Amino acid sequence: MDSQQFRQFGYAAIDYVAEYMETIRDRPVLPEVEPGYLNDKLPDEVPEKGEAWQKILQDFDQLIMPGVTHWQSPRFHAFFPTANSYPSIVGEILSAGLAVIGIHWTASPACTELEVKVMNWLGKLLCLPHKFLNSSPGPGGGVIQSSASESTLICLLAAKAKSLRRVKKLHPHLDEQEIVSRLTAYTSDQANSSVEKSGMLGSVQLRILPADENGELKREALIEAIKKDIENGLFPCYMIATLGSTGICTFDKLDVIGPICQQYNIWLHVDAAYAGAAFILPEYQHLMKGVEDASSFNFNPHKWLLVNFDCSALWVQDANDLTDAFVVRRIYLEDKQENENTQLPEYRNWQISLGRRFRAIKLWFTLRVYGKDGLQAFLRNHINLANLFATLVEQDPRFEIVCPPRMGLVCFRIKGENQKTQKLHDLLMERKKVYMLTASLNGKLFIRFVICSRMMKESDVHFSWNEITSQTENILMNNGT
Ligand code: PLP
Repeated sequence: MDSQQFRQFGYAAIDYVAEYMETIRDRPVLPEVEPGYLNDKLPDEVPEKGEAWQKILQDFDQLIMPGVTHWQSPRFHAFFPTANSYPSIVGEILSAGLAVIGIHWTASPACTELEVKVMNWLGKLLCLPHKFLNSSPGPGGGVIQSSASESTLICLLAAKAKSLRRVKKLHPHLDEQEIVSRLTAYTSDQANSSVEKSGMLGSVQLRILPADENGELKREALIEAIKKDIENGLFPCYMIATLGSTGICTFDKLDVIGPICQQYNIWLHVDAAYAGAAFILPEYQHLMKGVEDASSFNFNPHKWLLVNFDCSALWVQDANDLTDAFVVRRIYLEDKQENENTQLPEYRNWQISLGRRFRAIKLWFTLRVYGKDGLQAFLRNHINLANLFATLVEQDPRFEIVCPPRMGLVCFRIKGENQKTQKLHDLLMERKKVYMLTASLNGKLFIRFVICSRMMKESDVHFSWNEITSQTENILMNNGT
């Protein structure tokens, strides 16, 4: 393919995406296909001869699109949002076009330097304490990771290495394997599945503590677990607090947890994967109270801040904790700027993989095209739409709200036995017009309704609500079956 054909292919693809976005409401949010639908439609081997892009794009439209779940549809209310915006897509294209790998500064100076700059911008937008920023005189800094899962794991590995050094100093007679096997981590049962996975991958015993009736980590439960572990000769090492839990969007209290972690030398990691975006709104910043005691803070612009996956923003108070854990030296990795001690980060030592994409471009484009005002307006619109949905639920005596609406999430159910809500969800999934997930709290099954699409309007809320109520009528007419 030469550059002229690339232009045609590329223009056609952009047209395709623009058209897709403009007509997305016309498609059922969930595809009609059955598992394995694609296998017989595609050849089993790579084509012998190269094919025309027109034919490939046609196959994409006819074979792939029917098997796509439309995450950007205003009928998609499952999980949490995955962001998408035009400036971000263009940023992705340019990043792919340059195809640089930011192994070190010389490998592409702009790749490191733009990331430093936009992570400072973003940290300031969130009003994070200055010590977390690359622009602070101290050892703090921000970096783009692939995911919140990866950020939790990276900080767990750094905390593990740090605790190992500390405990070894205190107990020089203990061998390192022994110390590592005695490290413990803590979180609440509201934490995301990725937190449990990080404990598994990092081989650190994780205590999953019961949250209180509001879904917040209990202070007493944390202290008790830490004390018990210490009594048993274990070494508390890592704590993951959640701001905006996946199930019902609850917020742990950092100002309560932080001092406990400080007292016991525990690394406090904050997972604000979804809700962190809302901290660019002054009215939500109180939920971050106590963040100055955290060792690391993470949120995903790729969830709720209009930047396409992957873009997970991680800040640490002391980047030396990452480099102390992850540096591996080789002659081919030596770099001029590192030797010149310029204070610029060598980001490969802040992450798991060696290679790194130029993800800062899409973040930079998005922040500039929307500006602070545009981003705030986008989030407030989503929150207002969630409140509109909650009002519709509250006004209908057949339904109840399970917990107060938070951010873009409303948890609701049909009053009475769980069976009715389950039936409603089954019907909605069969009809494929809207997509939501169920969850349960204190034995009550409920449906999570999340405002996800960037294009969501009031009329879309009414569309989804009509679909819900029309199916509810059918269920209640048949006595909940
Ligand atoms: N943490 C929370 C609170 C989440 O809600 C999620 C995903 O929804 C994650 C972590 C995982 O995010 P990622 O897919 O970026 O790993």
